[in-house]
Amino acid sequence: MDNDKSNQLGRLAPLVLAAAAFLLIASQLLTRLDGWLYDGLTALRPPHGDHSALTVIAIDEKSLAELGRWPWPRVLHAQLLDKLRQARAVGLDIALIEPSQHADTDRQLAEAIRRNGRVAGPVFPELSGRELVEARPMPQLADAMAALGHTDFELDADGIIRRVYLRAGLNQARYDSFAGALATLASGRPASHPASAAPMENAAWLRAQPAMVPFAKGPRPYQLISYADALNRLPAASFAGRIVLIGATATGLGDVHATPLSANNRGLSGVEINAFLLHGMLENLLAKPLDPIWQALLCALLLGLADWRLSLLRSARRLLTAYFAASLSLLLASAAALYLGRIWPGGGVAALLLALAGCLRYAVRQTRLNALALTDGLTGLANRRSFDEAFAAELASHRRRRKPLALLIVDLDNFKGYNDRYGHYAGDDVLRRTAETLRRCFARKGEMPARLGGEEFGILLAERSEREALAAAERFRQSLEALALPHAANPPERVTCSIGVVSRVPAEDSARQIFEDADQALYLAKENGRNQVCGSGPAALTGQGG
Ligand code: GH3
Ligand code: MG
Ligand code: MG
Repeated sequence: MDNDKSNQLGRLAPLVLAAAAFLLIASQLLTRLDGWLYDGLTALRPPHGDHSALTVIAIDEKSLAELGRWPWPRVLHAQLLDKLRQARAVGLDIALIEPSQHADTDRQLAEAIRRNGRVAGPVFPELSGRELVEARPMPQLADAMAALGHTDFELDADGIIRRVYLRAGLNQARYDSFAGALATLASGRPASHPASAAPMENAAWLRAQPAMVPFAKGPRPYQLISYADALNRLPAASFAGRIVLIGATATGLGDVHATPLSANNRGLSGVEINAFLLHGMLENLLAKPLDPIWQALLCALLLGLADWRLSLLRSARRLLTAYFAASLSLLLASAAALYLGRIWPGGGVAALLLALAGCLRYAVRQTRLNALALTDGLTGLANRRSFDEAFAAELASHRRRRKPLALLIVDLDNFKGYNDRYGHYAGDDVLRRTAETLRRCFARKGEMPARLGGEEFGILLAERSEREALAAAERFRQSLEALALPHAANPPERVTCSIGVVSRVPAEDSARQIFEDADQALYLAKENGRNQVCGSGPAALTGQGG
């Protein structure tokens, strides 16, 4: 019965596992785990090499010390842009939303942007009061720019940026990403320059086309130059043919974000994250994250199949190894999909669930094996081995606590004759009925019936005097006889048993001595004509015989 039930459960387990995987992944409760996997793979990823065409001009501490406190007069940007006329494209990642105090400098900057001809500006969502608005460069500057791209980042649940959206915008994902706009400009194609959106009620910032930023350890895939150096020292020729991003890296100036690269050191500024993204676009390294629903379906299917197949393995140790190997393969498959297929399927949650399922199956398997090793197969009673273990333990504890421990040995009468007459299978049935009766009669705490072998049973009774033990044995003898199982080769013509009983406070006696005394009492019971209880101590003299 129990076995059938647990087999049914075992057969349902792959489905349960698949459903759990689906729910966990689709609900994105454990995305952090996949995030960590991505970070780990990022750490293992080979460096990009530094042969890129990207330059980041950093508004850094050094530039602030040299050029004064922020904001700088906008003519500085105008001068820099003029110096960058030979660049393939320029991303001006500076929020130039409000007109400056000197309208003249805005005009000068607008003219420099136009002269350059390949400048992209940033757009991002901003709260104005309680309204969400598109923050764009002021119209005079925006109109002069060749492209506009969004610089919005989405943080994962753990505050780390791993994913960006290639399009975003207010109520409609109208803007390319800032890096995307630059890539288009650099390729010479016309870049997108959406018109400013009319104010709307209940506006929402929408994102589309997610992509994983291809961070990699090692040298950064861009050249990092101080704004002050770019403006005052480096020749214009050093920017020829390069794609340049200008943005703040100084602490307190722009946003600094945690990335998979920044676990132990400082975060990356927005402009540098955009440089990683742009590098990924140019080198075709961007990976597309699998939609959570597809990810959940795929993992559920894989996990269900793997669990169903692997649970058929017979050896417990092989089972555990196989589950761990499958879990590791999932991780490797994730890495391969990321590096080679440019798809990010996650997989951390699935790998963990599979490893857990393996541990669970192993534990269940071991528990069942242990139980089997201690149980008699025919009757389901404790077997000789577990009886001996219990006997040794009880003996020690009764010796310590100076309490009497009782042992009963039950042997069926003329059972050989029963087999001869009714057959071995019928004999097995009698053994099972006897076991049932034993279980019923000795069901209390401290009472342990066991099959010692053949048609011989032993019962340990904790803290029972010989008188009590004799009474308990007699009750069982009568219960068995009352079953009235026909037995023509036994004088009472029904199945009966003889019982030897011993009880004492164990002193120096070993289990073996006690056992032999009980056996001796059983021998007496058989000698006296069977179907009776015999003790081995003084109480036996007044004990009830059969
Ligand atoms: P006694 O009253 O003196 O105990 O007579 P007995 O015939 O029971 O003698 P003995 O204990 O020597 O015989 C035990 C018999 O129990 C021998 C064997 O045929 C039978 N037996 C032992 N194990 C099993 C079993 O698992 N199934 C069945 N059907 N019979 C068994
Ligand atoms: Mg026997
Ligand atoms: Mg017998």
